[in-house]
Amino acid sequence: NVNNGTAPRPSVKFNPRLCTLSGDNNELISRYKYQNSIVVKDIHTNELEITPFEQDYQFKINLNPNKVGIMLVGLGGNNGSTFLASLLANKNNISFNTREGTVEPNYYGSMTQSSTLKLGIDSEGNDVFAPFNSILPMVNPNDFVVSGWDINDENLFMAMQRAKVLEYDLQSKLKPYMESYKPLKSIYYPDFIAMNQFERANNCINQNDDGQFNTQDKWNDLLKIRQDIKDFKSHNNLENIIVLWTANTERCVEIIPGVNDTMDNLIASIKDNHSEISPSNIFATAAIMEKVPYINGSPQNTFVPGLIELAEHNDVLIAGDDFKTGQTKLKSVMTQFLVDAGIKPVSIASYNHLGNNDGLNLSSHAQFRSKEISKSSVIDDCINSNEILFNKKDSTDKTNHCIVIKYMKAVGDSKVAMDEYYSQLMLGGHNRISIHNVCEDSLLASPIIIDLLVMTEFLSRITYKKMGEDQEFHKFYPILSFLSYWLKAPLTRSGFKPINSLNRQRLALENFLRLLVGLPPNDELRFEERLR
Ligand code: NAD
Repeated sequence: NVNNGTAPRPSVKFNPRLCTLSGDNNELISRYKYQNSIVVKDIHTNELEITPFEQDYQFKINLNPNKVGIMLVGLGGNNGSTFLASLLANKNNISFNTREGTVEPNYYGSMTQSSTLKLGIDSEGNDVFAPFNSILPMVNPNDFVVSGWDINDENLFMAMQRAKVLEYDLQSKLKPYMESYKPLKSIYYPDFIAMNQFERANNCINQNDDGQFNTQDKWNDLLKIRQDIKDFKSHNNLENIIVLWTANTERCVEIIPGVNDTMDNLIASIKDNHSEISPSNIFATAAIMEKVPYINGSPQNTFVPGLIELAEHNDVLIAGDDFKTGQTKLKSVMTQFLVDAGIKPVSIASYNHLGNNDGLNLSSHAQFRSKEISKSSVIDDCINSNEILFNKKDSTDKTNHCIVIKYMKAVGDSKVAMDEYYSQLMLGGHNRISIHNVCEDSLLASPIIIDLLVMTEFLSRITYKKMGEDQEFHKFYPILSFLSYWLKAPLTRSGFKPINSLNRQRLALENFLRLLVGLPPNDELRFEERLR
């Protein structure tokens, strides 16, 4: 049997010396001293002056995960159908045969379901790890209630077949579970996704019986989507819904003063049927108006300033953009490795070919451009962290970074990614690392969708109080940059730069989980071994 990853899971017992149970044992409260330093550089002497500061916080988490309804935009796509298949295979414990033997269902590739983090040491000083989702209660993806929209009307069994991602035996076994799912009618404005998607659009609320599309009733489109969310909620008796965009990549919209720069202008522009209002703008606006978190898994700039203001105004969690799956994830690790090792990457050339519908859509220039932008920013924070390697005095003060994506129908969902990292070593030497990576794109993306949803639900149960200042507990600021581990171009609060480096993103998540149960941040000092 192929390893199924379903070993019995421990659960972590709360230590009253570290954290307190309250509210009939439904809430856990911990205290945390946040410590950081203001660093100022004197430009004359080049000295760095460090001034430490600290702030005490109290964090409170509700220990009962909510029953969550998931609404995917693009449910019938490769990601959407693979995501649903993975939930149903795990929930119903469907094993299946391949030429390598029987495979048990699992959630490999999902950090929340299949990774561990270091909790402490045993009495001999050896590290003890615990499953990521055993530290505190998290929703089980098997319990997600799933619905969603697609511009194409195929049921989810047909969509899974069309995607050609999963093994034949698994598809056959999933058929009775999948075929009852049918996507809700969506919105299609032809200008936003590639024209090669036109024939797919046969399941749209803005389409008449002759198949013609109306782009002049955008407010009505929004009201229909809001109604879909309300209906899904009430029919399934759900308190909590999350909407996630995994539909085709759209072209970016223009940010135009008076059109989408403020919340009021955005609403007025939807009512005026402005041409720069995209379907994803409508979905995000509808979700936020329904007080439902919205996550953007594609690269387009759905979150125009007006939408961010709307999310702030309604205090609704949002996150984006673009799932960080294979090539980009590795790039944010490789670049950090090189730069932190003092090696200077002078060029990174990234080439992909893929033959799925995402690849077909990206073969059109405007949609490729959205992807190119989101893929390009991923090394910026790393490059900016090292002035020894990258400074204005040098002719290569930035890494040359080039991204190519080609559509090659034959390879289907098995995307081929080739990356060449060309770096400068000591005294004129050079280093060339080439990486060739092939795998089913949707099997990388689906576990990431699961993680984004599990963590959004988890983070929505946490509130905090600044000690000595706040009387009440507050929710997080709406842009959930804690989720940036899973996102290529993390949406970040105005005035802050995104963190792309994967290790730094993971460290933040680990330490946050630890502080919620009263533990200090993880360090690797290992004094038990190193000091006498
Ligand atoms: P896909 O083309 O197989 O699926 C997209 C689905 O969206 C299709 O079924 C299509 O009919 C539907 N659609 C298009 N416009 C829609 C609309 N307005 N409303 C509702 N449905 C609509 O693509 P995929 O491989 O599932 O990828 C989905 C998205 O995720 C793409 O934007 C892709 O760039 C992004 N993404 C994927 C990965 C990955 O590894 N798979 C990584 C990062 C980002």
